[in-house]
Amino acid sequence: MDFVPRQPIPEQAPVLNRVPEVPFTGLQTLWLQVGGTLCNLACNHCFISCHPENHNIPMMTLATVRRHLEEAGRHGVQDIYITGGEVFLNPEIMQILEAILEYGPCHVLTNGTTLNAKRVGQLQAIQERRTHKLHFRVSLDSLDEQENDSVRGPNAFRQAVEGIRNLSRAGFPTHLTLVRSWDEDEDPAMEQQVMVFLRNLGAPQGRAKFLPGFLLGELEKTARQYHEHERVTERCFDNWPITNLQCSSSRMVTEDGVYVCPILVEEPAARMGGTLEETFRPYPLRHAACYTCRISGMSCKS
Ligand code: SF4
Ligand code: SF4
Repeated sequence: MDFVPRQPIPEQAPVLNRVPEVPFTGLQTLWLQVGGTLCNLACNHCFISCHPENHNIPMMTLATVRRHLEEAGRHGVQDIYITGGEVFLNPEIMQILEAILEYGPCHVLTNGTTLNAKRVGQLQAIQERRTHKLHFRVSLDSLDEQENDSVRGPNAFRQAVEGIRNLSRAGFPTHLTLVRSWDEDEDPAMEQQVMVFLRNLGAPQGRAKFLPGFLLGELEKTARQYHEHERVTERCFDNWPITNLQCSSSRMVTEDGVYVCPILVEEPAARMGGTLEETFRPYPLRHAACYTCRISGMSCKS
């Protein structure tokens, strides 16, 4: 009798259930975690668990920023975003901004609470010396003071509002970021409310940026964890280009190395290398947060 081999066990899952890999198409956007994980606030939904004592990821030094800017410049970076933590806690922030503007426009993500008139005056002076533009994105959790401060802490609303006013007086384009706590189909109505809010603060050209809640960091503790089934597979990209994901054209640099994106800086598996060039390769979308990116179609960019 002939030996009939048993069906071999497949080494990989069926194609459509496989973990997809996002290709890297070129460095369009550079993210810099200038503030590390340090923040003057301790919002109870922060997906990186930033707070006044969190030094897990150190703030970036000017020297580190310069090194990565030079590398990014060689690869044709088009725009640069800085975030934290809170970027204005970094003692070298003004020199860092000045260095960034040599390479391209800089989008500053901030909670706005430290933007007093003196600091905004310094920002204005930097802007006058550089051709590339500074843009600001101030985050709040609600347009209602009480609701906002219940998440962000006492006085956070008033200080941020003062920051937006100061930026507007100085002529900086200022946008507002809110984590979505309403149904997506209410976005147009919310957008209108944000426009009115910004107009009243003297920022008529401001726009709204709504972000989905990532079930990471503090939000994972206060809301819920991702369910087992909340993962992406190749099937999720049948009719939606995987290159829509921001991780196909951007990288996140921290003082501790280069990560695939700004969302996964606390995930050791998302650290792709020590230099940008080491990270110019595909990345497997195993993390549950990738599911939020896919279903919301979100990008952290403006
Ligand atoms: S959400 Fe923003 S402002 Fe709040 S703790 Fe995190 S980094 Fe700071
Ligand atoms: S979390 Fe989003 S941006 Fe980050 S690797 Fe996953 S899909 Fe890409």
